[in-house]
Amino acid sequence: VQLTFLGAAGTVTGSKYLVEVDEGRLLVDCGLFQGEKSWRLRNWEPLPVSPREIAAVVITHAHLDHSGYLPLLVRSGFSGPVYCSPGTRDLCAILLPDAGRLQEEEAAYANRKGHSKHHPALPLYTEQEAYLALQRLSPVPFGKKMEPLPGLACTLVPAGHLLGAAMVVLGGPAGTLTFTGDLGRANDPLMPAPSALEKTDYLVMESTYGNREHAKEDPEARIGEIVRRTISRGGVVVVPAFSVGRAQQVLHHLARLFARGEIPQVPVFLNSPMAEQATAALCRHVGSLRISEAECRALSSVARPIADPEGSKRLNGLKAPMIIIAGSGMATGGRVLHHIKAFAPDPRNTFLFTGFQAAGTRGAAMVAGSQTVKVHGEYIDIRASVVQLDGLSAHADAPQLLAWLSAMGTPPRRTFITHGELSAAQALKERIQRQLGWTASIPGYLERVELGR
Ligand SMILES: [Zn+2]
Repeated sequence: VQLTFLGAAGTVTGSKYLVEVDEGRLLVDCGLFQGEKSWRLRNWEPLPVSPREIAAVVITHAHLDHSGYLPLLVRSGFSGPVYCSPGTRDLCAILLPDAGRLQEEEAAYANRKGHSKHHPALPLYTEQEAYLALQRLSPVPFGKKMEPLPGLACTLVPAGHLLGAAMVVLGGPAGTLTFTGDLGRANDPLMPAPSALEKTDYLVMESTYGNREHAKEDPEARIGEIVRRTISRGGVVVVPAFSVGRAQQVLHHLARLFARGEIPQVPVFLNSPMAEQATAALCRHVGSLRISEAECRALSSVARPIADPEGSKRLNGLKAPMIIIAGSGMATGGRVLHHIKAFAPDPRNTFLFTGFQAAGTRGAAMVAGSQTVKVHGEYIDIRASVVQLDGLSAHADAPQLLAWLSAMGTPPRRTFITHGELSAAQALKERIQRQLGWTASIPGYLERVELGR
């Protein structure tokens, strides 16, 4: 059995692992490279293996750095099945067409402005190509054994993290090989803890937070405090939120705060059709969540959805108090931009960012205390208070990763550390060696290893 690291090696995005056995080739995860340009350019390079020669794909979860390359794979000739959990299928149906649409819009914008080196600038793939890729998805429930290749068994195991997120456990001639995908927190309010693994011969282990520990803040208490403070001074709370995952966490916390009477009954608007779809998808799979059906109904009904852009603009004319949840989470685009123009200049209002803000984004500038940000070519004064929540992460932190590993009865024969910035991967490797006494390695991009020798 050969394993080749086609992505998430020395970086946190682009997850793609090629598994080769005598009977054929299987790709585990099919993610886009995101972030730094040097990595993003790799999305445009052909894979070292022809997509026509890949028999099947298994996807751990719907985040684009694990699923977002699928439309390209299908366009380049892949014609096999793509196995994933039912929850992942539902979220891919929301995320992949949106990714294609955004890429078409960016290419069109670059062509209008003429600021691309490429004439004409092309999208990586289109919305239509994303729909074609969705036709290949074949949902398989957690725990059900399947055979993506003759003689190679495969089971999806819950990983927490996100609706539908799975670990992929393969059983073949070289023993068992497990890919963690992204592991969730043991104490996530919506998702169950990642399942414990008893034993695996080989492990491909994520390390996103391999060098970090989550802050010990209680996000629900903090949201309550911020909402009360803003409302008492007659302000509006604007929550730039990631539509899939984070927005639902915020809705859940708000529903609980309202139910306990800890925040006043003010209107809440969910100004993101994608977040609304993701909320519906979440509740269709309530059996795989930590919360009950009643709690799912409560979080689905806490906010009024805003369907059209006109309704979105009307929100800017409404009087405080209110809470508006709108994409995107780092204020890089989407409907929240109009709310920045309308609400950021007033010191009574609050912008509540719900997670990590990548360098160079408006969100990062606002969190760092910038006095102005540029929106649609216009400089907007930031006088509203700006708060960043740390406690809503969907990832296990370093101590939780270690705890999950140490629950394994027998150490794997080999552990490969992937899906982390190099510093995070190295920190996790050292902790594994020091605390567990296992050896682990950090594979390089395109490195190929032989298993079972
Ligand atoms: Zn993820």
